[in-house]
Amino acid sequence: MKKVLEVRNLKTHFFTDKGVVKAVDGVNFDLYEGKTLGIVGESGCGKSITSMSILKLIDKNGKIVEGSIMYGDKDIVQLPVEEMRKIRGNEISMIFQEPMTSLNPVFRIGDQIIESIKLHQDLSKQEAHDKAVNMLKLVGIPRAERVVYDYPHQLSGGMRQRAMIAMALACDPKVLIADEPTTALDVTIQAQILSLMNDLKEKTNTAIMLITHDLGVVAQMADDVIVMYSGKVVESAEVKELYGNPKHPYTQGLLESIPDLKSEKKRLNSIEGVVPNPMELPKGCYFAPRCKFAMDKCWQEEPGVYFIDKEKNGETHQVKCFLYEDK
Ligand code: SF4
Ligand code: MG
Repeated sequence: MKKVLEVRNLKTHFFTDKGVVKAVDGVNFDLYEGKTLGIVGESGCGKSITSMSILKLIDKNGKIVEGSIMYGDKDIVQLPVEEMRKIRGNEISMIFQEPMTSLNPVFRIGDQIIESIKLHQDLSKQEAHDKAVNMLKLVGIPRAERVVYDYPHQLSGGMRQRAMIAMALACDPKVLIADEPTTALDVTIQAQILSLMNDLKEKTNTAIMLITHDLGVVAQMADDVIVMYSGKVVESAEVKELYGNPKHPYTQGLLESIPDLKSEKKRLNSIEGVVPNPMELPKGCYFAPRCKFAMDKCWQEEPGVYFIDKEKNGETHQVKCFLYEDK
């Protein structure tokens, strides 16, 4: 299993008039070839800022203040803008919830895909054109031969999403970052797109980083999962282990809050209480105000990261909670 990305102690902070927001605060994880890592958490937990940090697309008032993002022998954190531009959108590609963030409204869909293909592959114009049409077909766009000449605004939301995925995949990326890729789509199209991403992973060995609030999507897609809360990773494990043996009270709450499959909504919002204000984080464990197991110490000190059943699971299952201190 080849590691393609190694994130260590990543800290991305935002400097505002009202104070510093530690949006990502000491995050660690690895991405492997042909594997999907799910990053889960409620809105504002830092999962999107984590992906934007990897792409180095952070708003002006934000900065990576510490840590490293190793991509091969390059540290993305230190990489000059020019070199990053070559990697972004090609070797590290992305799919967003809102396709217009990556589709340029003034160029035809086909030309944008061709552009992406030609950057990395030695193909003639005709070959690139044919590949663009094939990519559009691959993502299930009907009449691809015509759509290739359309502008983004001529497509429906679902079709734009597919076109963006076609573009992201056309350059055979090593890493695909998908931030809530199917949230805006209806259930049938969502299922198609997810299975498309799974196929791609198998065919191309791409490493996928899947950011979502939807634990159902993670169960279906991910090999490994990390759970984030207030800018920190609170639990990480292989997907089966996390669902079968969740340890962090927050993860347990998230899993309990998934309604059964028959009900239509699967949102993570039934844990009591709210995410703390990032300007006024509690002193000890950030989850303490919502945790039914909180002890005195939880209000005073930040918990460390502990391994669960080292023998059974290797070192893959980790949890940031005092309940597991002595295990
Ligand atoms: Fe709850 Fe304490 Fe564990 Fe935080 S460290 S999740 S407050 S038990
Ligand atoms: Mg987000």
